Amino acid sequence: MASNKNLLILPGDGIGPEVMREVRRVVDWMDKRRAVTFDIDEDLVGGSAIDKHGVPLADETMDKAMEADAVLLGAVGGPQWDNLDFSIKPERGLLRLRKEMELFANLRPALCFDALVQASSLKPELVSGLDIMIVRELTGGVYFGEPRGIEDLGNGERRGINTQVYTTSEIRRVAEVAFDLARKRDSRVCSVEKANVMESGLLWREEVTKLHGEGFDDVELSHMYADNCSMQLVRTPKQFDVILTDNLFGDMLSDTAAMLTGSLGMLPSASLGATDETGRRKAMYEPVHGSAPDIAGENKANPLATILSFAMNLRYSFDMGDEADLIENGVNKVLASGKRTGDIMAAGCDIVSTEGMGDALLRALDEQAA
Ligand code: NAD
Repeated sequence: MASNKNLLILPGDGIGPEVMREVRRVVDWMDKRRAVTFDIDEDLVGGSAIDKHGVPLADETMDKAMEADAVLLGAVGGPQWDNLDFSIKPERGLLRLRKEMELFANLRPALCFDALVQASSLKPELVSGLDIMIVRELTGGVYFGEPRGIEDLGNGERRGINTQVYTTSEIRRVAEVAFDLARKRDSRVCSVEKANVMESGLLWREEVTKLHGEGFDDVELSHMYADNCSMQLVRTPKQFDVILTDNLFGDMLSDTAAMLTGSLGMLPSASLGATDETGRRKAMYEPVHGSAPDIAGENKANPLATILSFAMNLRYSFDMGDEADLIENGVNKVLASGKRTGDIMAAGCDIVSTEGMGDALLRALDEQAA
């Protein structure tokens, strides 16, 4: 299979460059063994961009991101940039990418690898085989709604205001992503809101239901209140396939679901934008974890979250599901063989470095390809 997909890699700060080095080895493997070639460009984001350009994301890098078929990001931030003005902090680079690429759908899988079942805080039988996808609306809702602020009421009291607001089109476009995704999985979407107490939640439910009837009725749709969903996630998480929800509830539910699976070092994510007239969807893939300054430069970081983010990139932006399967199966094999970085270490397993985990994964890929 030949391909010349254009991929922009932004390793970022802290452990970002270390974990991204292991992704580059997987990319090289694909190149050699699968005859899949990518046009890769690499650039700076976050603190490393501040050090070079004085800003966390140079305009030129932003332009490249807009042109790329996908962006793969490591992590940003670190103590050396903590005291900078809020407007040029490393995280602003990330926010600019999300905003200008209009990445409105955040995909957070919660997948429990068999070998890590014991790392979950839940009983093994509850999480064994767990495979949930949370689709969170990312650019609307209460985090962005106006009016917002803190006002002085002049009587010794102050009032904090945030506004939960959603429009029809904001709901429909993210719901469409969830239905599309469900079709590639178990064909079930559970839409989550608080329609019982919030008008925005009621609109959410009505619009999702309407869209479902306009061409997605092959997908099973159910609705659930957000508070119940949080309970169900820790009670019987395997009942879910795709969970569709807004920005605020998604923020919390995705973290809860993530922790069912064990470690931060294992969690990938994707953020998707609208499809343009050529059928191309803007997309950015990144691990959920941060730059882990406490272990940066020590060859200790777990590269699997970033490698699994690349697998999502292959599946959702490049339509290379077979290659994504290869990587995910490879990760399963490596974990089953007892190889662990420090963050997921367990009794009786072998501790490996960041590079050692990369070596083990390449061996597992070789074995599958043999
Ligand atoms: P963090 O995710 O960087 O680290 C939390 C803990 O988990 C640390 O003990 C760390 O060593 C460990 N950890 C994280 N990823 C790991 C990995 N791949 N392998 C092994 N261990 C791992 O969160 P934090 O400490 O709150 O933040 C550190 C910096 O990262 C801050 O500057 C923060 O702003 C930034 N941050 C960036 C992002 C991002 O780029 N998307 C996300 C969160 C935090």
